[in-house]
Amino acid sequence: MAALPRLQSVREIVKLYGLSAKSQLSQNFILDKNITDKIVRSANLSNQTPLVVEIGPGPGLLTRSILDNDVPHVVAIEKDDRFIPTLTQLSEATQGRFRILQGNALQVTFQEIIETIPSLSSVLKKDREQQKQPEPIHIMGNLPFNVASPLLMQWLHQSAGRQGLFGSGDVWMTLMFQKEVGERLSAKPSTEHRGRLSVMAQSLCQVNTVYTVPSTVFVPRPKVDASVVQLKPRQEKLIVSDSYKTLEDVLRYYFTKRRKTIGHTTKRLAKQNAQVKEILDELETKIDFKARPEDISTDTFCSIANLLNQRNITITTT
Ligand code: SAM
Repeated sequence: MAALPRLQSVREIVKLYGLSAKSQLSQNFILDKNITDKIVRSANLSNQTPLVVEIGPGPGLLTRSILDNDVPHVVAIEKDDRFIPTLTQLSEATQGRFRILQGNALQVTFQEIIETIPSLSSVLKKDREQQKQPEPIHIMGNLPFNVASPLLMQWLHQSAGRQGLFGSGDVWMTLMFQKEVGERLSAKPSTEHRGRLSVMAQSLCQVNTVYTVPSTVFVPRPKVDASVVQLKPRQEKLIVSDSYKTLEDVLRYYFTKRRKTIGHTTKRLAKQNAQVKEILDELETKIDFKARPEDISTDTFCSIANLLNQRNITITTT
């Protein structure tokens, strides 16, 4: 694929349009292409990658690093209309490889993404039918920090239910989070940052921090460092898809009482819920009643959620 013609540098674009960062849109830009290239390298993109969806391209430096990898279809979702002229210029330079959707990434539907590229639906279908192991679709972005967690939860739910983009094949997510969120996502049992988010993510994905990015790299400089986290779908499923909501409820129940032992919390639940009381002995064979929630493995939480869901037991947190 032909190299992109030289466009104005991102630094020039920011200066030209007088673009100042809007803090309510969590705008902290990366203006160093070595960094965006490094982020993109971890995703192993190529001309075989069917689609990259980028969230919040802003002035578009990460977008250029993605396009440099010859990806045939890149769709970016950007809320701030000040970036649209620049992104349109970049789109025109790519002869249709790059499309922009203006809107809120929390609300944009899979259908809207697909409709930006007329042939995309059939490309994705053909990939699934003709290749034993189709190349993954990618979601990437230096995420707006204020919507990063809700966005990820939305994708995890879609992934569990094989809905939207996640119904079209494997999806890898390579995403920049505030460092503390990254630590929570990848935390192993019995470590400081282990929590609900760790189990929700790790029940569906292999989660790895691929790159820690110091706050000095961003313009304007945020208060905290960031990290790039990669989430790849687990090949062996731990959770059946309709148990994912139950897993969320189970985790909320246990982690809001994170200082109590699992036994204490489970017995309390059994007092309120006759169905749980009936399976209390079975639960004790599956989960260590002396442990605390942060010590429990992802597999164990998933098997508890699968069991409860199989028995039609709902947990409410009041
Ligand atoms: N990708 C650029 C970079 O790395 O320099 C900008 C990253 S900046 C942290 C976040 C970007 O997301 C901004 O361009 C902001 O306008 C955009 N944004 C904020 N909220 C959004 C939302 N709900 N949907 C889509 N884009 C959003």
